Amino acid sequence: TEQARYAVVGNPIEHSLSPRIHTAFAEQTGESLVYERLLAPLEGFRDSVERFFAEGGAGLNVTVPFKQQAWEIAGRHEPRAARAGAVNTLWREADGTLVGDNTDGAGLVRDLRVNNGVTLAGARVLVLGAGGAVRGILEPLLKEAPAEVVIANRTLARAEGLRDLFGDTGTVAVSTFEALVGPFDVIINGTSASLQGELPPLPGALVNPATVCYDMMYSQAETAFNAWAQQQGSRLRLDGLGMLVEQAAESFLQWRGMRPDTGPVMALLRPD
Ligand code: NDP
Repeated sequence: TEQARYAVVGNPIEHSLSPRIHTAFAEQTGESLVYERLLAPLEGFRDSVERFFAEGGAGLNVTVPFKQQAWEIAGRHEPRAARAGAVNTLWREADGTLVGDNTDGAGLVRDLRVNNGVTLAGARVLVLGAGGAVRGILEPLLKEAPAEVVIANRTLARAEGLRDLFGDTGTVAVSTFEALVGPFDVIINGTSASLQGELPPLPGALVNPATVCYDMMYSQAETAFNAWAQQQGSRLRLDGLGMLVEQAAESFLQWRGMRPDTGPVMALLRPD
């Protein structure tokens, strides 16, 4: 029998860890599949996706900069992806319908709650940023019933847009970075400032010794945000590797009907 074909599509795509993660999942579960990288031209995302499925592809992960376009071309959305306006997982149903899901938020929540024992229920949560990544995590985060989620963004109007979109599912407030008043139980950095080694202009006293800080960015070296968090005295600092592996597991579950064990794969990617 032919192996099922999966891929991660993006531009650029060379550095994606998804092939390693899904290949490890397949070995672990004994599922027969191949998982590749697919570079789509910036103006040719839809064509690339259509060709992939026409040639018998079983499922795609979608990464930067195509998550919003993936949402647009999906004919049906899983509930948790509907409002996000961003899709990171695609597959085709028997009748040909392209289904879009967003597993980023479930991955983040699972990494916090299951892998690191962080309580989100009743917590005061600060989310930095209001881009695509934050759109994807808000609904699963609000489902955990935090006491409050404050969204702070450089462009306040984008934070306000997200508050208006998700506000009915929980208590959502917005702020500029400078006007933030702490402390928070959990602080999640969803800005891309980390990619340039930068930090939003955050005031003091956001962190107390019980605060958990999470940088959605993953890097071998400590991120600027997590270095700041340590200076501020945060008890636990996490980066986005756990979220990356957990969102992959959530996609694998959707495609293959089984959830891989993420621990060994996390250890493979970060041996220490
Ligand atoms: P977007 O481009 O959609 O959004 C970027 C956000 O960062 C905006 O809120 C923007 O503010 C803000 N920002 C950018 N530069 C600065 C700066 N210098 N100072 C303050 N704020 C800044 O990016 P994404 O949402 O797609 O990605 C955000 C991060 O999340 C990336 O680091 C990405 O790697 C990570 N990510 C991790 C995942 C994982 O699985 N671990 C999954 C998805 C994303 P403004 O609105 O004012 O422009």
